[in-house]
Amino acid sequence: MGKSFILKDADFTGFLDKLSFDFDVFFPVKNGSQRFFKKFVNANDHPVVGEVRPFEPLKAFFSRAREFVAENFSAEPPKINHKPYAIVGVKACDLKGFQIQDFVFKNNGLEDPFYIHNREKNLIIGADCTCAIDTCFCIALGIKPYPHRDFDLNLSTVPGGYVVEEGSEKGKALLEKYPSLFKNAAESELRAKEEQRAKTTRAVEENLKKFQVPTEDKFQGIIERNFASKIWEEEAKTCVECGACTNICPTCHCFFLYDQKDDKKMARLRVWDSCMIKDYARVAGGANPRKRLWMRLRNRFEKKFDFFPKVLKVYACTGCGRCISACPAKIDIRKVLKRLVANA
Ligand code: SF4
Ligand code: SF4
Repeated sequence: MGKSFILKDADFTGFLDKLSFDFDVFFPVKNGSQRFFKKFVNANDHPVVGEVRPFEPLKAFFSRAREFVAENFSAEPPKINHKPYAIVGVKACDLKGFQIQDFVFKNNGLEDPFYIHNREKNLIIGADCTCAIDTCFCIALGIKPYPHRDFDLNLSTVPGGYVVEEGSEKGKALLEKYPSLFKNAAESELRAKEEQRAKTTRAVEENLKKFQVPTEDKFQGIIERNFASKIWEEEAKTCVECGACTNICPTCHCFFLYDQKDDKKMARLRVWDSCMIKDYARVAGGANPRKRLWMRLRNRFEKKFDFFPKVLKVYACTGCGRCISACPAKIDIRKVLKRLVANA
C-alpha cells in the first residue's frame, strides 16, 4: 500500500480544475437513482465520488464503443485527437475488468494501439464504495468494495474530505505536483476510512445472504457439469437478444470491424459486438454454431466461468451487477449461478 494523504472537500473541485489542464476529466454525477460519468467543466456539478459504480463500465474509456481504426489504406492508425482521460471515482469492480481487457488487447501476443495508448496515458482515480445497491455482489467474486490495485490514486470518503492513497508513479507525481492540496492523513482519518470500508463490506455481505448468491469457491466445473442442463433454455426464455448484458459488462470485450465509405474517404471502424446476438457466430455460407438463444446464454457463461478461469485463472465477472440492472428480460446472473451450483 502507498502513502496516505488527505484532500479536503473544499479543495476537491480545485484539484479537478488542475487536472483538466492535462486531461479530459470525467467523474460520476447522479441522475435519478443512477450515477453516470460526466465531463468536468466547472464546479456546478456535484460529484458522487463514493456510493457505488456508475452506470457505464470503465472499459468505455479504453476501448471506445465506436472507433475509427484505419483510414484511406494508411498503415498508420488514425491520430487520437483528444487529451488523455482522467477518470475519477472508479470502483474496484470496474478495475478488476482490466485483468480481462489487458489480456485481450495487450498481453496476448496481439497489441491494440488504441487500447495501449489509453492504458498508458489515461489517469485512474479510484474510489471506495460507501454503500451497496441491491445488485452488488463483488464479494462473491473475491473482490472487496474498495480498490487495492490498478489505480493511480484512490479516494476513500471520510468526514470533511478524502483519504488519498497513491497507487502508481503517475499518481505519486500528481501528489508531488500539488503539495498544497495534499497533507498527511491523521490517524482519525485513517480510522474513519477503515470503519467505512468495514461498513460497506457488511452491506455487500448482506446482499449475498439476501439473494443467496454462491461464492467463487463453488464455481469450479459448474459449466462443464451443466453443459446439457435444461437451465440454459429455461433462463434464456425471456431474453430479447438486445446485447445490453455484454455491452454494459466491464469484462466483455468482443468487437466487430466494418468498412465505411463516403465521397472523401474510406474508413474502417470498430464497434462493440455481443455474443448474445444471433449473427455473432455465423460464418460464411450461413452456418451458425449457436443458433438458439439458450446456446448463446450458455456461451456467455462459459466464457466467464470456464474459459477465463482456465486461461487466466480469473473469473470474467466482477460482481458489479450491471447486467442485472440492464437486462430487460430480468435475467439475473446471481440466480443462474445459484441454479448452476445447486445442480452441479
Ligand atoms: S457479468 Fe454482469 S455482474 Fe459480472 S461483471 Fe459483467 S455486468 Fe458485472
Ligand atoms: S440483456 Fe438480457 S435480454 Fe438482453 S441479450 Fe442480455 S440476457 Fe438477453
